[in-house]
Amino acid sequence: MASGGGNNRNGTHRNSLKGTTTTSTVSTDKPLSVNSNPSKPAFKNKSSPLTGASSGLRKSSPGSLGGGAAKDDAGVPGRVRVAVRLRPRNAEESVADADFADCVELQPELKRLKLRKNNWDTDTYEFDEVLTEFASQKRVYEVVAKPVVEGVLDGYNGTIMAYGQTGTGKTYTLGRLGEEDTANRGIMVRAMEDILAEVSPEIDSVLVSYLQLYMESLQDLLDPTNDNISIVEEPKSGDVSLPGATLVEIRDQQSFLELLRLGEAHRHAANTKLNTESSRSHALLMVHVKRTVKGREPAHSSDNGNSTSMARSLRPPLVRKGKLVVVDLAGSERIDKSGSDGHTREEAKSINLSLSALGKCINALAENSAHVPVRDSKLTRLLRDSFGGTARTSLVITVGPSPRHRGETASTIMFGQRAMKVENMLKLKEEFDYKSLARRLDIQLDKLIMEHERKQKAFEVEIERITAEAQNRISEAERNYADAVEKERLKYQKDYMESIKKLEEKWMMNLQNQGNERKEQMVHIAGEVAEVKKLLSKETSLRKAAEEEVDNLKSQLAQLKMSEASANSEILKLRKMVEDEVCQKEKLEGEISMLQSQLLHLSFEADETRKRLDRGGPGKVPGRLDSPVSQVRSQLKDSGNGEKASVAKLFEQVGLQKILSLLEAEDADVRIHAVKVVANLAAEETNQQKIVEAGGLKSLLMLLGSSEDETIHRVAAGAIANLAMNEKNRELIMSQGGISLLSTTASHAKDPQTLRMVAGAIANLCGNDKLQTKLRGEGGIKALLEIVKCGHPDVLAQVARGIANFAKCESRAATQGSKTGRSLLIEDGALPWIVQNANSDASPIRRHNELALCHLAQHEVNAKDMISEGALWELVRISQDCPREDIRTLAHRTLASSPDFIAGLKRLRINY
Ligand code: ADP
Ligand code: MG
Repeated sequence: MASGGGNNRNGTHRNSLKGTTTTSTVSTDKPLSVNSNPSKPAFKNKSSPLTGASSGLRKSSPGSLGGGAAKDDAGVPGRVRVAVRLRPRNAEESVADADFADCVELQPELKRLKLRKNNWDTDTYEFDEVLTEFASQKRVYEVVAKPVVEGVLDGYNGTIMAYGQTGTGKTYTLGRLGEEDTANRGIMVRAMEDILAEVSPEIDSVLVSYLQLYMESLQDLLDPTNDNISIVEEPKSGDVSLPGATLVEIRDQQSFLELLRLGEAHRHAANTKLNTESSRSHALLMVHVKRTVKGREPAHSSDNGNSTSMARSLRPPLVRKGKLVVVDLAGSERIDKSGSDGHTREEAKSINLSLSALGKCINALAENSAHVPVRDSKLTRLLRDSFGGTARTSLVITVGPSPRHRGETASTIMFGQRAMKVENMLKLKEEFDYKSLARRLDIQLDKLIMEHERKQKAFEVEIERITAEAQNRISEAERNYADAVEKERLKYQKDYMESIKKLEEKWMMNLQNQGNERKEQMVHIAGEVAEVKKLLSKETSLRKAAEEEVDNLKSQLAQLKMSEASANSEILKLRKMVEDEVCQKEKLEGEISMLQSQLLHLSFEADETRKRLDRGGPGKVPGRLDSPVSQVRSQLKDSGNGEKASVAKLFEQVGLQKILSLLEAEDADVRIHAVKVVANLAAEETNQQKIVEAGGLKSLLMLLGSSEDETIHRVAAGAIANLAMNEKNRELIMSQGGISLLSTTASHAKDPQTLRMVAGAIANLCGNDKLQTKLRGEGGIKALLEIVKCGHPDVLAQVARGIANFAKCESRAATQGSKTGRSLLIEDGALPWIVQNANSDASPIRRHNELALCHLAQHEVNAKDMISEGALWELVRISQDCPREDIRTLAHRTLASSPDFIAGLKRLRINY
């Protein structure tokens, strides 16, 4: 009962019957129109007055077979059809109302009903069909129900409902089984007969539920324990279903009749239990018809399996699902609301609820009201598709003739009149049945698998057969081949034997022919043999003579060999003697070198002892200590002729080359002695050149670098200092990296004497005009300033001598103009030390520093630094106190001539 049904209440649809392709009759559009042939409604091809909407609908629907329901979504208008049926007077009425006329008068040909108001006035109503008391059950079925049933078979929902006062024949019309007389069969039985006649049991199905609604409780008449079935509404489609209700599949009429009987019995029992009558409850029969649309069945010929049949078989079958609802309503008469019939007021309300809700819904639909109270009762919920929905609905209202019930009759008529105004939109319930397609495909698949297996088996058998046949053929061919080969072999054997035989015969013949020729040849050969024998004896005698000769020679050879052996032993003896001699010589040489080293050692020990005595002795002359070279020299001089002679002798005996080679001896002691000897030799000016030429300088420098021994360092540095006395050697020392070797030696030295030797060597190198820049560049000045850290006066004296030498050469170069700019001594930071030690207690230190200051002061460019380092005071002191007059004068002159110094003196307020 959808709200807002169609507006076309008069029904603008043509009546038709199923399959009216040729003879469908067309009735007028209006319900008032007169049926063209009301008394003879045709089953198959005549239109029915109650099914006006069916023609257009069904004519259009076959066209939509492929498209299904979706194309027809909007539906086709189909007004609720209403017929009125008059029950004949029953026995009681015949008696009681004998003197009264019926309250209704029917005009079936005009489809009119006249309701007598009083003796002189009637109301006239028009219905879709008017069925008199003489109308047969068959006719009632055909007029009221058949079009609906056909619609259900075609895939539409359908409703057939009886409405009327109790006892007016609702159950008679719908539910009679016709057991006593088949002519009395009611609509339910006849509808099922038509349905079963139309469906195909293999592909279609018919399922039935039978229910009773009483006091808003839905009971299953096929299963009385199931007495509260719930109604489920599909939210999308609005379809109503009863999942809890028993569904029985109907295959034949007999089982349907039994089902109805069973339902009736259950209804009776239930009503007894509830203490009510069947007239108080509504009975609903629901028939679900599912049909496969013809022409859309799957192709059954799967054997050939061509593509079209395959494609066809993949198409899901199209099914139409129509639901027929037959409703035998409770009596429409008003029950006593006081509850006098054994019910309370509340119960009475509840009993009436569904029926009055139905009335309200139909009123709302008839008036096209915006709200239809469908949800007010279970009945209206169950029938929502029947009124204002998609179902084709046919209502039969039953009335009795008795004027005593005129009121109830009038209200029944009004109900029917309103229901006629309700417009439904009929919709085809058509869909693809994928489930059955799946089932069908499963079956097909099984069949195909079976077929495949069968073929596979046959194929395997065939393969086996062919294999066996091939095997047979092969073995036969092999046999044939073996036979042929054997035959051939025998044939060749035979041929061979025959040819052998022939050859033997030939050979025998040849032998006989050759016998005679042989005899002649034998005589000739005998002569030749005798001659050969003679030659042989001659040869034999010659060989014997040769053998004798050989024996003779052999004995001679043996004699020669013997004499050679004795000579050999003599040679060996001599060789042994020579080797012994060599050994002896080597021993002696070893002894000699040992003696030489001992000698060197002894001589050097003597030197050392003498030097120590000289340094520590009371007769030491301080003025001679400033140079190790002169010291060595003096040692040599002082040592008298004896010592000098010993070294000279050694020099002569051993040779310079030998001594220098001992500098690289493996024995450390030998090395030390050798370097001592070289140092002593280097003290002599006459030897210096020879030592350098023989590579001595190189060896000494190498010793500085390679040896770890400090004695060697000390003595080698002393030797280098001696060699540096010579102008030429200084250049050689510098060019062979002497400065850096000496600085390294100084940095590792622990003994002040080593530092003294190193400082002496550098001091000597400082006295060379040409090498000033190089010496400074290789760190000579810096090395001297490092060495002073040791503090030993002997060492400091050597450093001061070096600095004085450097300053003197620099001053000379500046005077000559080959040197400009500040003194390199000042650049390398020597000035503070010079100033500090210019008044040293040790006179050699003081004198060298005083000299150095005077040399530096010669040049104005050094003046500022000298003033700032405090040299001015020292110069003033030197000019006044220096014991050496030449230095004093030099200092004085310098101070007097330098503007910077003069300014400095003034600034310091020194009166000079
Ligand atoms: P309801 O179901 O409306 O209460 P019923 O079908 O039970 O009425 O009918 C009441 C009585 O009237 C029954 O005995 C029935 O046989 C009888 N009856 C009803 N309609 C007819 C009819 N058209 N012809 C003969 N008898 C009828
Ligand atoms: Mg009844």
